[in-house]
Amino acid sequence: MKNYGLKIWSDNNFIIQGDEVVLNYKSQPSLYDIIKKIRLQETKGPILLRFPHLIKKQITNLYASFENSIMEHKYKGSFKAVFPLKVNQFPFAVEAIKEEGKAFNYGLEAGSKAELILAMSEINKDAHITINGFKDKEMITLGFIAAQSGHKVTITVEGLGELKTIIEVAKASTLKVPNIGIRVRLHSMGSGIWSKSAGVDAKFGLTATETLEARRLLQEAGLIEQLSMIHFHIGSQLNDISPIKKALREAGNIYAELTKMGATALQNINIGGGVAVNYEQYASAKTHNYSLAEFTSSVVFLLGEIMDAKGVAHPNIFTESGRFIVASHAVLITPVLELFTQDYQEELLHFKENNPPLITELQELLKYLDPKNYVEYLHDALDHMESLLTLFDLGYIDLQDRSNAEILVHNIIKKSLYIAPSISHAELRQLQVNLQERYLINASIFQSLPDYWGLKQHFPVMPIHHLSKEPHRSASIWDITCDSDGEIAFNPDKPLFLHDIDIKKEEYFLGFFNLGAYQEALGMGHNLFMHPNEYSIEITNDGFKIKNEVKSKNILDILNSLGYEGEKVLDKLKRDLLESDFMTQKEKSDTLLKLETFLHQNGYLRTTN
Ligand SMILES: *Cc1c(COP(=O)(O)O)cnc(C)c1O
Repeated sequence: MKNYGLKIWSDNNFIIQGDEVVLNYKSQPSLYDIIKKIRLQETKGPILLRFPHLIKKQITNLYASFENSIMEHKYKGSFKAVFPLKVNQFPFAVEAIKEEGKAFNYGLEAGSKAELILAMSEINKDAHITINGFKDKEMITLGFIAAQSGHKVTITVEGLGELKTIIEVAKASTLKVPNIGIRVRLHSMGSGIWSKSAGVDAKFGLTATETLEARRLLQEAGLIEQLSMIHFHIGSQLNDISPIKKALREAGNIYAELTKMGATALQNINIGGGVAVNYEQYASAKTHNYSLAEFTSSVVFLLGEIMDAKGVAHPNIFTESGRFIVASHAVLITPVLELFTQDYQEELLHFKENNPPLITELQELLKYLDPKNYVEYLHDALDHMESLLTLFDLGYIDLQDRSNAEILVHNIIKKSLYIAPSISHAELRQLQVNLQERYLINASIFQSLPDYWGLKQHFPVMPIHHLSKEPHRSASIWDITCDSDGEIAFNPDKPLFLHDIDIKKEEYFLGFFNLGAYQEALGMGHNLFMHPNEYSIEITNDGFKIKNEVKSKNILDILNSLGYEGEKVLDKLKRDLLESDFMTQKEKSDTLLKLETFLHQNGYLRTTN
């Protein structure tokens, strides 16, 4: 697994050159060079890198693929897209989406009041805003204000109550009425861990009966000319194309029926998001079973077929793909702070003049272990370890003997694994689990990979350098939170192997990839570890530019955001120190300065790495 499945998950965005992972774009800078340059500015701890060119690539691919399918199937409607803000609302992600999407009039989708305000302030007037999610009268009024201010807005109705409120607001105010969409509740469901958005028991959408009632209410209120969109969304990271096709047939037929029943202003069908991203590092792991080209071709073909059969004009196709657009653009780079079992180094062996015979035997086993005898020697070593532990419990050997035994046995197992690194032997597989090295990273899994914590969603991980060496250590990853859930355990079915590095002598950085969708938005401040330092990297033909630095919140700001008064906290700490004994005035003022500095830094570890 020396290439860490790069070909499976990286979509050719990252490649290995020599020792390092480089960006497969223009000057092809290496991640390590980028990190080294950023860290020259005294920046330590985890670093989130954004690559706007990868957002551009995804937006361009999405539009190109739909345009292609439209041409191929002689489809008469056009293609339009909005980015769902809930997937990533961070300013420099949104800025990149806005910049790279400008040429396409790429719009935004809002699912809450705050997101709607953001959409209204960020988007240009030619791009669309769609408003989904549960709404109150205020949020609906905001939609009217957006329309009045010149935005192309569609409010998607999630229930009849909302529709009644829209009609109420329209009657009571002189504001421009926005376009109205109806989210339909489909019986077709997606599959995968994020597929609860459809089906008869789904949280959102109108049933067939409610849809008919909605049409009637709109007709009655004289607002039927505002009904322009049918919307559905059957879930995120859809791994199978067939439920998508089923949902399209269902929604397409609802669209056609409504048109024939007099909803003549209908012109858009919004197919939601759900296009999957590849997060897997192993060819054997199951991922989605379709390409973007197959997806767009299926959508366009099916909708054309349904409309032609019912004699209805082809609608414009809207998508709200989020994950697909931004997942690849963000990479977290974390320093490794420590390898825990390096405590088992041979230099820590301290033999006595007279060692217990089993210890002497272990020494011999280690010395003479070779490819022919390693299975037998391993068994002997494990046997001896059992006996030595019993002897220790009974008081026949001391703590030094026990330590020597642990180191020797550990190294015997390790040497065997090096001799037979790709063993399928069930026993050795178990040994890999037992012998895993624990890599402590300067980051929080709760903050930076919350879907790993919550859903065990795998994210690609690999060292960004040292790659010309074979990685031998079966690895589990620990974060710096005080929570045993902050761990990516070693999984013998999808083993991660990392390098044996002496952290005191060499740096070791791990990269976590495809983190741009949802992870930042969902990131939790567990133990008060907040969003890490972030930078946008513009890659040029002869190098790269580091832009848009956003520093991780400092401790004072973190306290303030919780509702404490940071300055008061600092004052209290200072007073306590000033009143303390046994320190000169000079020592006190030096310590005060230190204290002040600490409170102005973020909470990640700094002095180690
Ligand atoms: C979350 C959401 C999306 C985005 O889904 P992705 O899987 O990220 O593409 C699109 N539309 C709606 C209504 C959503 O709730």
